[in-house]
Amino acid sequence: MVASGASAADALAAAADSFAAAGIETPRLDAEVLLSELSGIDRAALIADRDLTLEPAAARAFSEAVRRRIRREPVAYILGSKGFRHIELTVDRRVLVPRPETEMLVELALEVQPESVLEIGTGSGAIALAVADELPGCRITASDVSDGAIEVAAANANRLGLCERVEFLVGSLPVGAAGFDLILANLPYVPDSDGLPPEVGQWEPPEALFGGPDGTDVIASVLAGMGGAGVTAPVIGLEIGQGQGERVAAMLRAVGWSETEVRPDLAGIERLMVGRTS
Ligand code: GLN
Repeated sequence: MVASGASAADALAAAADSFAAAGIETPRLDAEVLLSELSGIDRAALIADRDLTLEPAAARAFSEAVRRRIRREPVAYILGSKGFRHIELTVDRRVLVPRPETEMLVELALEVQPESVLEIGTGSGAIALAVADELPGCRITASDVSDGAIEVAAANANRLGLCERVEFLVGSLPVGAAGFDLILANLPYVPDSDGLPPEVGQWEPPEALFGGPDGTDVIASVLAGMGGAGVTAPVIGLEIGQGQGERVAAMLRAVGWSETEVRPDLAGIERLMVGRTS
């Protein structure tokens, strides 16, 4: 634990040791990020200034954060926010922590330059709000089956001043015929039996992660529901998991997106599935 008046260097070293002992993959980085955010002191200054002393309030907040992190709570939930593209999102356990690889869906929107987007399974609103932020002419409808997620997403939209162009709805798909220029979705795609790191498996909402025995059940059922709901778009982008490319491509072709393309993420894992109608 960190005593008031403790040196920042000692506090960081002690926290990093406890994190390493708890099995955390990036102990020193997590300690630095938490202390920097909670003390308001730049990370570089925290590291460079060996004589820096912590204010009692910062030391207390850091102790509490260290206690939480040792239980493998994600850094983003402890801080209550996560950066994604150019925006900062408020997050809590009702929504997944936005992942860097999910930014590929936003990059697809920049390529397509849509005037209207449907995002299915918006969670914190990360994709919808980043698209709204980066494409000022675009209107977005964003859905989630979780009331809690829609509360988080709507609060993010308000805080970011983007609520005029982003409409949220609880449910899977909008009701009534709806044509969009682009559909985007990061649906749950983790196979039920997959082991996940404690940060994910013990803290993030399972309903946003797991997609049945091979991970593609939710994607299949959402795609199957689109025809009946009258939801269409010339281009669709889906985030997928390792080894799901061929299966999801076949699903897309079966419902009319006849041209499919899989793009790998920075780790070389097939991550973005793009479907086009012709
Ligand atoms: N990429 C996330 C993970 O592996 C899963 C996100 C999802 O299912 N949509 O933890």
